Amino acid sequence: MGEEAPEFRVESITLEPKDCHRNAVQVGNKTYVIGRSDEESKSHFDIKILDKLTQTWVVPTVLGAQPPSRSHSAILVNDEKILVVEKGVSLNDSIWFLEIDTPFVKQQRKIKGSEVVSWSKGVLGVAHKPVVISGPSGVGKGTLIAKLMKEYPSKFGFSVSHTTRSPRVKEIDGVHYHFAERSKMEQDISEGKFLEFAHVHGNLYGTSIEAVESVTDEGKRCILDIDVQGARSVRASSLEAIFIFVCPPSFEELEQRLRARGTETEEQIQKRLKNARAELDQSNSPGLFDHLLVNDDLETCYENLKKLLSLDDEHEDSEDCCMKDGKATACYSILSKTESEILLQSDIGELEKGSANLLALGLSSLTGGAPGRTRGLKIQPVNPIANGLKAIR
Ligand code: ADP
Ligand code: 5GP
Repeated sequence: MGEEAPEFRVESITLEPKDCHRNAVQVGNKTYVIGRSDEESKSHFDIKILDKLTQTWVVPTVLGAQPPSRSHSAILVNDEKILVVEKGVSLNDSIWFLEIDTPFVKQQRKIKGSEVVSWSKGVLGVAHKPVVISGPSGVGKGTLIAKLMKEYPSKFGFSVSHTTRSPRVKEIDGVHYHFAERSKMEQDISEGKFLEFAHVHGNLYGTSIEAVESVTDEGKRCILDIDVQGARSVRASSLEAIFIFVCPPSFEELEQRLRARGTETEEQIQKRLKNARAELDQSNSPGLFDHLLVNDDLETCYENLKKLLSLDDEHEDSEDCCMKDGKATACYSILSKTESEILLQSDIGELEKGSANLLALGLSSLTGGAPGRTRGLKIQPVNPIANGLKAIR
């Protein structure tokens, strides 16, 4: 059963002018009031929605990790999301989106049967889609991923899954998996902390939203090593990704690799081989996998994987845009919006500090969103004179 959102009537909204701790954004017949409330010395966001036709307020369920909650400015980007710019934090941490009607929010609203909004942090840089790698146990997924991470440590980050299975020798908690108690993992799943989960070979495995977000926050492309059921769930979610299925050259070779790895008991090997047949059958499910890779010769397969991910393209790095001083403290307010960009103006004498007074946030390259980060944020300094703009103070 969904939680009932409390509703109450009001006469009018009172917002002090220039109140930077509370913003009202008009969306059709609704007003979204994004405010800050201080409770028990902790500051957090307080979101209320006024239906102007019925003059009733709704307090929505707010999903996702929220911004640090300092002073902020807000503007409607489109019918789906509101941009919220935080002040007094680094530029890297200052851009947030409050999703009010994205496909994810619509889906959650349906599940809960009440009003829902969700936070999604904006991440600077080129938005590369996460990569989902599936395939039967023993086919070589882990080996391929390890090679990729070794060759491109700053480009790729591994989404560390949770599992209830026991660690193998040499597996490190927090690096290969988060080894979890079943009851705790089930509780976290029920609280919506997981992007997907599945029962695989008798254990519970799952990808937490945090696992994917922490890789994205480092500006890296996220790699998920998950089974076919997990791939299906991610396909059905709003996380846009590239889906790759790795096949063995033959079933006999798969069995040999699984045995040669020497990490499973005979019983477990039999279970994995049985499941492998079903997974191989599903690899051709229409619309599920974008690419099938045969892992016969390891080096050849690895080169093919790199081609799929355009890593043979010399120009990739030059795409990386943006402000190089994203870690410096920023104090920007939203100045204006056009179809393609939002202008941010510095509140303090940023010019004196050598950083830009005006920034343009490009909207065309934005992608992703809740659950997870909004990627592809491109912020460029603007020359106000060249652009015929007057700075407003
Ligand atoms: P997965 O992660 O898909 O379960 P692993 O990466 O653990 O599989 O690989 C299973 C075993 O097969 C490992 O011992 C690995 O060294 C070996 N292996 C991986 N790729 C190849 C290959 N192309 N040829 C021969 N052995 C391989
Ligand atoms: P292993 O026990 O060999 O590490 O993994 C067994 C299977 O579980 C593999 O097919 C692997 O891809 C899958 N797996 C690992 N992590 C996850 C996860 O987070 N979600 C899902 N659905 N499958 C996972």
